[in-house]
Amino acid sequence: MQFIKPEIFTATLASKVQLTADTWEFDFTFTPGSFPYKAGHFAMMIFDHEGKTEQRAYSISSPPSSNSFQICVKLIPNGKGSTFLANLPLGAKVQFKGPFGMFFIKDDNAADLILVATGTGIGPMKSIILDLLARGDGRRIELLFGVRHQQGLLFTDLLAELSAKHPNFTYQITLSSIDGRVTAYLDQFNFAKTAAHLYICGSGAMVKDVRNFALEQGMDKAAIHVENFG
Ligand SMILES: Cc1cc2nc3c(=O)[nH]c(=O)nc-3n(C[C@H](O)[C@H](O)[C@H](O)COP(=O)(O)OP(=O)(O)OC[C@H]3O[C@@H](n4cnc5c(N)ncnc54)[C@H](O)[C@@H]3O)c2cc1C
Repeated sequence: MQFIKPEIFTATLASKVQLTADTWEFDFTFTPGSFPYKAGHFAMMIFDHEGKTEQRAYSISSPPSSNSFQICVKLIPNGKGSTFLANLPLGAKVQFKGPFGMFFIKDDNAADLILVATGTGIGPMKSIILDLLARGDGRRIELLFGVRHQQGLLFTDLLAELSAKHPNFTYQITLSSIDGRVTAYLDQFNFAKTAAHLYICGSGAMVKDVRNFALEQGMDKAAIHVENFG
C-alpha cells in the first residue's frame, strides 16, 4: 500500500510532554475509528484562529498505531498553530486531515538508510526508526541529528537505548553552536559510492544544503527523500 487517501478525522489530546524549553510532544488518540498512516507521514491540523480556519502540517513522530499518534512541535512565539497547540487542554478534540507526504520508506525499498535531521525534523525519523526496528528490519540505519545547543536535544535517551539494543542502528549528534552545521559531517557517508537512501528533514535551508551536497557528490536523485518544514 503506497497511497492512502487523506481524510478528515477527530483526535483527542491525551497527553503532552515538554521535551525542551520550546518543544513539546503531543499525544493524540483517535476518536473514534482510526487513521492509517505510515512512518514518515504528516497530517494537517485544522483549527480556528480569530474566526478563520487555518491549517498547519505536523509530521507524525510515533510509529504506526491504530489508536494514537504523536507530533513533536516547536512552539513559535505568536505562531498561530503552535500557540493553538500550546494552549490546548488535555481532552480537547482537534481536527486533522491526513495522511500526507512521500517521506516514508516504500514497501519495495530495502536499501540501507542515512537519516539527516535538525530540530523537530527528528520527529518523522523517530517514527521511521521505531517502526523498522520494531519489525526486526536488519538494514543499516545511520542517523545524523543536529540541534543548536545541548539544551535543544530531543529523544537522546531513546536514541541511546535503541542503538544499544539494535547494532544496525547508529546515531551521531552535532551541536551547531559548537561543532558547526550538520553539513560539515556529511563526508563520512560517501554519497558518491553508497547504495543507501538518504532521508533529510528539518528547516528549508538545511534540507537544501544537504540535498545539494549529496547530488554534487554524485548520489542518485531517486535515492534522496526530503521533508522540508519551511
Ligand atoms: C510537511 C511539513 C511538516 C511539518 N512538521 C512539523 C513538525 O513535525 N513539527 C514542527 O514543529 N513543525 C512542523 N512543520 C512546520 C509547521 O507546519 C508550522 O509551519 C510551524 O509550526 C509554525 O506554524 P505557526 O502557525 O505556529 O506559526 P505561523 O503563525 O505560521 O508563523 C508565525 C511567525 O513565525 C515564523 N516562523 C514559522 N516557523 C518558524 C520556525 N520554525 N522558527 C522561527 N520562526 C518561525 C513565521 O515566519 C512567522 O513570521 C512542518 C511543516 C511542513 C511543511
